[in-house]
Formats: sequence, C-alpha cells, structure tokens
Amino acid sequence: MRSRTDVQLDAAIGLLENYARILPTALAHIDRELHIVDGWPATTMSDGMPRGSAALTAVERGAEARVRLSGTRSTLIDDRDAIIALIASALHVCREAAGMRAPAVVVRCKDNQVGRDGVIEWGDPTCEEIPAKAGCCAACYQRERRWRLAHALAPREIEAVA
Ligand SMILES: [Zn+2]
Repeated sequence: MRSRTDVQLDAAIGLLENYARILPTALAHIDRELHIVDGWPATTMSDGMPRGSAALTAVERGAEARVRLSGTRSTLIDDRDAIIALIASALHVCREAAGMRAPAVVVRCKDNQVGRDGVIEWGDPTCEEIPAKAGCCAACYQRERRWRLAHALAPREIEAVA
C-alpha cells in the first residue's frame, strides 16, 4: 500500500525527469541565441551598407535581446540551484527526523521528594541528582534520615518506598 506522500513524490519524480531533459536544451538554445545576438546584425557589415540610424536601432534591439536572454539564463540556473538546494535540505531534515529520539524521562531526586514527611525542612526542590537511595540522592537522603530520626520516625529505607 503506497501512501499519499509516495504518490505525490512519484509525480514529482516525473516532473523532475522532464525538467532534467528540457533544461539542457533550454540552456543550449539561450546560449546559441546569445551568441547570435552580438549587437551587430550581420547584414550591416557583409553587404557593405553604412551603419545609419537603422543600424543603431538594430544595436539597441540586440542589446535588449541580450538583456532578456541573459535574464532568462540566470533564472534557469537559479531555479535549478534552488531546486537542488531544497531537495538536499529536505533530505537532511528526513535523515535527522529518522534518527530522532524523544528525550528519555529521567527521574531526579527532587521529583521523588514530593509529598514526603518534613520535605519543607530537609528537602531540596532544585536537586537534579539521580536518586541513589530510597528515591533521593545521597545528600538529600542523609538530610531526610536525620530529620526522620529527629522526629522519631523510622528511616525511609525500611518503610515501603514511596
Ligand atoms: Zn538530592
């Protein structure tokens, strides 16, 4: 079963194949025309006619044609480069997406302190340490242990671990 994306890409591949076939032809044609339109019509030189106002008009026409042809040539090249850059960028994003991982949820010491007896006194709501004993890091565990001793409570590790 092909997804909608595959169908769209199949159409795009068809377009790209046509484009790849036609672009060199278009560029070759433009280059040929640019070569012909060198600004001086061949007739004025070879037939011995003097270059009058008509020849100047031809020069101007030639210059105008050159500008148009050069502009089209630049567009052809720029479009090609933009298409290649876009495909390369899309490929890069695809490869990155294919390698992406959601960040693993890591429980920190502070997360396990929530709701414990006397946590307002012994706890550290900013502690990012990895739990080592009874859900807390060694330092927080020690503070909790001392607090529990001071309040005649059993150490946490022999209680049911919260
Ligand atoms: Zn801690």
